[in-house]
Amino acid sequence: MAPELRWLKGLRWPAGLLLAGILAGELLGRAAGWGALGGGPPEGNRVALTFDDGPSERTAELLSVLARHQVQATFFVTAPAVEAFPEALAALRAAGHQIEAHGRWHTHALLLPPWQESAQLRWHPRETEAGPHLYRPPYGGHSPLTRLLARLQDRQIALWDVEGRDWTAGEPGTLAAQTLAQVQPGSVVLLHDGPAVTPALLDELLSGFQVRGLQAVTLNHLPPRRIGLGAGLRRLRTSYGL
Ligand SMILES: [Zn+2]
Repeated sequence: MAPELRWLKGLRWPAGLLLAGILAGELLGRAAGWGALGGGPPEGNRVALTFDDGPSERTAELLSVLARHQVQATFFVTAPAVEAFPEALAALRAAGHQIEAHGRWHTHALLLPPWQESAQLRWHPRETEAGPHLYRPPYGGHSPLTRLLARLQDRQIALWDVEGRDWTAGEPGTLAAQTLAQVQPGSVVLLHDGPAVTPALLDELLSGFQVRGLQAVTLNHLPPRRIGLGAGLRRLRTSYGL
């Protein structure tokens, strides 16, 4: 190695450590969700049900369960799903549910170059209407860049604090019991518009809410709060089972 390059070799360790630190901080920050919207106020009796990935061939079933319980929910829709199921989107609107964005593509932020992530965030099903406009990143994947792009495009990143785990092969009764065990006033529950299990799970959840005196409302009526230090640490503990 040329003598003038020796100092570079000496920098290898500190640079590696710095990079590892940034990566660890980034992974922890993403799991914690600091700065994004999470749950709502723990005082009172309101909770929010949210459905990602729709609309779909399942939307009509979800709508009929929600109507039976006289409850409104928030749907985070994607551009391809809106194109594929325009009537389902119209039915969601007609029933007064809150409609927000889940991306122009259903692609994880890590797989998108910045200009595509910018386009991913720009798309919104209610673009021409007054805000606030919420954006739920696919797979919850977001980074400091996502947060910066969201701020530039006047979008708020909205996450959740309880997972309904309806993408697993669980029975609706088991999933409902596991979900209800975690729900507390202010909770934002993540569900999906698509899985076959979700309408039955939704029915059981809403019956459980009724027993506990919890009122399911749209996110606008919760409303969700920014995830601070304590709530972020709780998310980390849940994510990594700490
Ligand atoms: Zn999704």
